[in-house]
Amino acid sequence: MGGDAPLLIAGASYAGLQVASSAREAGYAGRIVMVGDEVHLPYQRPPLSKGLLTGKTDVAQLSMRPPAFFDEQRIELCLGRRITAWDRERREVLLDDGSRMAHGPLVIATGARARMLNVPGAALQGVMPLRTLDDAVRLREAMPDARGVCVIGGGFIGLEVASALAAQGLRVTVVEAQARLLARAFTPTMSHYVQQVHEAHGVAVRCGRAVRAVLGEGRVHAVELDDGERIVCSLVIVGIGVLPNTEWAVQAGLKADASGGVLVDALGRTECPGVFAAGDCAAMANPYALVPGQPVRLESIQAANDGARAIASALVDRPVPCEAVPWFWSDQHGLKLQMAGLGDAGDALVVRGDMAAHRFTAFHLRDGRVVAAHSVNRPAEHLLARKLVGARVRLTAEALADEAFDLKAALASAA
Ligand code: ADP
Repeated sequence: MGGDAPLLIAGASYAGLQVASSAREAGYAGRIVMVGDEVHLPYQRPPLSKGLLTGKTDVAQLSMRPPAFFDEQRIELCLGRRITAWDRERREVLLDDGSRMAHGPLVIATGARARMLNVPGAALQGVMPLRTLDDAVRLREAMPDARGVCVIGGGFIGLEVASALAAQGLRVTVVEAQARLLARAFTPTMSHYVQQVHEAHGVAVRCGRAVRAVLGEGRVHAVELDDGERIVCSLVIVGIGVLPNTEWAVQAGLKADASGGVLVDALGRTECPGVFAAGDCAAMANPYALVPGQPVRLESIQAANDGARAIASALVDRPVPCEAVPWFWSDQHGLKLQMAGLGDAGDALVVRGDMAAHRFTAFHLRDGRVVAAHSVNRPAEHLLARKLVGARVRLTAEALADEAFDLKAALASAA
């Protein structure tokens, strides 16, 4: 291994860019090379399923850093190139153009790609995922001619797209295979609430239904469900989850969890010295894990940034492990949904505030402690809720539900 081999960052999105910029900020002086398979400079992703579709945000506003930043910070970019294999012994990666690149420290920040639908007709024109900037631009271009949209998958991507498209006046149907929306992390009460919000805005929701086929000739004209229902549409947006881009790392022997996330500790370190992972492709040690001790693969910007900062701290030998409370947000039909902690559908749920007025926080209690909180249009309370989750404060359901009860004081006395 050459002593001057660069810090190689595989992936040029949130985690990759954050490792590079935090490493420089912390005084990392060596070469940094970032390889990414998309041709674009690192860009913000949340607007892809929100403002970019409604026209509130333009492509030019999405850049995370201007081109000059990469020159100033001496971050070398190798874009439009995919890593296809890794020679762990020689500490080299193989790129899709056949070239090889030697690495010193290696950061796997390759993210995840959209899982595709595996039914007849899934390759018809008009069937598309929404993951990348190119996907979002393609969808935006197709919207003016759309005559009905079927969104497959009632997770965050699917629901945000449904909301954005309905706001543009399109007829939207969401098909979710599970018995309810957002079943992975939400309680039935919150799933029901979200479904009602969508239906109130004209989105049709079909839960517990499988897609049998996508019908059409050349282009899609309908989606057929397992009970024979046909949803007439000219666009199908597939939002059925993601697959981490870790095959090359796993083939080289790195351990991964069941979802394909490379296993890392709270400093982002894999079991291979000098090799790290962060972001959607990493399963990281997490003090808030539902199963204590089990690494968690989180798909959030916050997790990507926090994991990346931990890696940068390790790279400059001033290690600060990642212990942040997981948090996420989503915008749907004008509602600001903020989520902290890792909720489980089996948690006891306590609602503080008014669901009908769309101003409340739904707290998850597990063994008498606050473990997660989902807020709708209550940003100030949410900040407090996040701290309650962080401190795993013990509170009764009665206290939480009582708006006269002082949460700030409860937090202070728990500290
Ligand atoms: P995303 O980031 O794409 O929103 P999630 O995993 O949060 O990913 O949500 C994906 C949703 O899609 C889940 O609610 C899951 O139950 C649903 N889903 C997965 N496969 C199918 C399918 N074939 N048809 C309909 N829904 C599906």
